[in-house]
Amino acid sequence: MVNCVIKCRAAVAWEPTAPLMMEEIEVAPPQEGEIRIKVVATGVCHTDLYHLFEGKDKRGFPTVLGHEGAGVVESVGPGVTDFKPGDKVIPLFLSQCGECKFCKCPKTNLCDRNWSSKYHDIMSDPTTRFTCRDQPILQFMGTSTFSEYTVINQIAVAKIDDDAPLERVCLLGCGISTGYGAAVNTAGVTPGSVCAVFGLGAVGLAAVMGCKNAGASRIFAVDINEQKFEKAKVFGATDFLNPKAYNKPISEVLAEMTNGGVDFSLECVGNTEVMRTALESCVKGWGVSVLVGWTDVKDFSARPIQLISGKTWKGSLFGGFKSKDSVPNLVCDYMNGKIKLDEFITHKMSLEQVNDAINLMKTGQCIRCILNISK
Ligand code: NAD
Ligand code: ZN
Repeated sequence: MVNCVIKCRAAVAWEPTAPLMMEEIEVAPPQEGEIRIKVVATGVCHTDLYHLFEGKDKRGFPTVLGHEGAGVVESVGPGVTDFKPGDKVIPLFLSQCGECKFCKCPKTNLCDRNWSSKYHDIMSDPTTRFTCRDQPILQFMGTSTFSEYTVINQIAVAKIDDDAPLERVCLLGCGISTGYGAAVNTAGVTPGSVCAVFGLGAVGLAAVMGCKNAGASRIFAVDINEQKFEKAKVFGATDFLNPKAYNKPISEVLAEMTNGGVDFSLECVGNTEVMRTALESCVKGWGVSVLVGWTDVKDFSARPIQLISGKTWKGSLFGGFKSKDSVPNLVCDYMNGKIKLDEFITHKMSLEQVNDAINLMKTGQCIRCILNISK
């Protein structure tokens, strides 16, 4: 089998906004430094929906979406020594080559060899290993986990514990690491602090979990969908606010409830208005607000006094975690009970049901739906 083209099932996004189509695709063998992975399970993240319904950049199609997966190594290309067939792995949408100036710097988790630094507008590497109906198919975020097989460079694959349950730890490939790390790494939430998390999808709930694990004394959970509040409690939220239930800005409500504003706020929606609100909800002097939600179609704005008065506005990609080093440790943290994963999973479906899973997220009915791709 090694070095053959594999034909397999994948959900192809042929164009923006259209439903994904189940297709037979050809997956080329791994080239120098690459790994071909049999995907076992994948989550559906809002960033997949962003590409399909919000970003809608035609240059990023046709593509296979999915970037929150886990699987098993099927074969390796020349020069790959750290992986062998059968290893359990998590694909990484953010690589860690270990050699570029960013990888060598402890201040960041960016990597110069990541797909995004070169093809940011396209959101996938044009040298794809996928073909369908004689057309090249792009690999979204370099991962493409809505497919039975995918090929990824070894700098964007984490080898994980042999006993890890793939249908749960797949969530560490994006949403949970992102939200959790945004709180513990990027915001640097401190013991006894007061926090607010805007948006209670998996990313926001993981941010709540991060605030809790970092010792926050009060965690405000903010969402326009009140059905999310019950879950937020499970992860440690103490107060629950629906901005639509007030006739004044939620930043004012928070300021009144906290004697001037929260110490840390995290935007986990991907909405520039909410980003501004999250900043305005912080206390002057030392408040820190972190952008986690993803959007690249609009500018954002705020009054300069917000920063002049001593607040800090930051952003976080993959929770600030150096991906290849950190994901195996996060898997251990889950297996040792330090972080939760099971509680994020509200639905399980097959790859054929991917459009239903996307619809669940679009209509706010799920936290994470896991697609079982193969045994
Ligand atoms: P999700 O759709 O499951 O959750 C979003 C939540 O925000 C929902 O509960 C929704 O009700 C809520 N919401 C919508 N509008 C709101 C408003 N005006 N005020 C308050 N809450 C509001 O999405 P998710 O998978 O949790 O992802 C959240 C965001 O994080 C997305 O933008 C996604 O693209 C982004 N993301 C960023 C990174 C990164 O590395 N920075 C990684 C993964 C995901
Ligand atoms: Zn994601």
